[in-house]
Amino acid sequence: MQHELLKWFRKYGRHDLPWRQSPTPYDVLVSEFMLQQTTVATIIPRFQEWMKRFPTLKALSRASEADVLSAWQGLGYYARARRLHQVAQVIVSNHQEKIPQDLETLLTLPGIGPYTAAALLAFAFDQPTVVLDTNIVRVIARFHNITEPIDSKKGKEQIAEAAHKMLPKKNGYAFASALMDLGAAICTASNPQCNLCPLSANCLAENPASLPRKKPKPSITQKKESRLFYQEDHCIYLEQSTGSHWKGLWILPLARTIPSHKNFLTSITYPITRYRITMKLYRGTDIPSKNLHPFSKEELQTLAIPSPHRRAIEKLQLFF
Ligand code: SF4
Repeated sequence: MQHELLKWFRKYGRHDLPWRQSPTPYDVLVSEFMLQQTTVATIIPRFQEWMKRFPTLKALSRASEADVLSAWQGLGYYARARRLHQVAQVIVSNHQEKIPQDLETLLTLPGIGPYTAAALLAFAFDQPTVVLDTNIVRVIARFHNITEPIDSKKGKEQIAEAAHKMLPKKNGYAFASALMDLGAAICTASNPQCNLCPLSANCLAENPASLPRKKPKPSITQKKESRLFYQEDHCIYLEQSTGSHWKGLWILPLARTIPSHKNFLTSITYPITRYRITMKLYRGTDIPSKNLHPFSKEELQTLAIPSPHRRAIEKLQLFF
């Protein structure tokens, strides 16, 4: 199975991904942080821009948080950018600018959980390691016909056990990359192409498209919020968020009382975790809070603003 998989990978693997071309451990670290909950296609240009802006761990560690958040714009989940910045600072200060090569030390670093640690060991240091990303879990669940929900305790145990059994003694980088690419190209979530798969001779999947299974999802909760749009002298007023989700980013201020309907401008909807938020936007009539800061259109371009608020501002500017 390993032989067939690696043979397939040499021929069809995604060798042209920018973080796979003679990657440094720093390249792998950045790509892994970016790839959490964001697609490969989105990441490719952003990874290249990031590397021009922060070419080394040291450059990243010395950047200001505002610069880091600004470079992260559009990738969402800004906590990842903060943690990447933090981990660069810790590695530069405490580990002589070198990313540690053992699991135990990696797990002591801020923002490095079991998945990122495993990915670093495999992709940066070529160590045979169980890396359980979405694509790999799907391939393993099907190859072993694991029907337990993969987000249940039992399902997770079965996946981990099967993954350990499949692990080769060397070629950690190629093996994990090959499983990942197979899941992305052949053993896809819908319509797996078993007739093209190098693992088909030994695959146990009885009904591949039905695997992997997951526990039923909690239902989506609808929420509403009212925000204000102040514009004066060609400047838009924003406040810096102190909430856990967008801490430090610039957002449209919340209305403290219910605004008059005659000031209603527009609304947008966006998802956050298990919520679907409807943001209703009203014209602000005066500037009530000292926490509001004016920004020109040019300044808004580079300001760290979460995507839903940037979308709202762009939509609102059509009104003025
Ligand atoms: S044979 Fe089909 S189900 Fe099995 S690993 Fe290959 S693509 Fe996936």
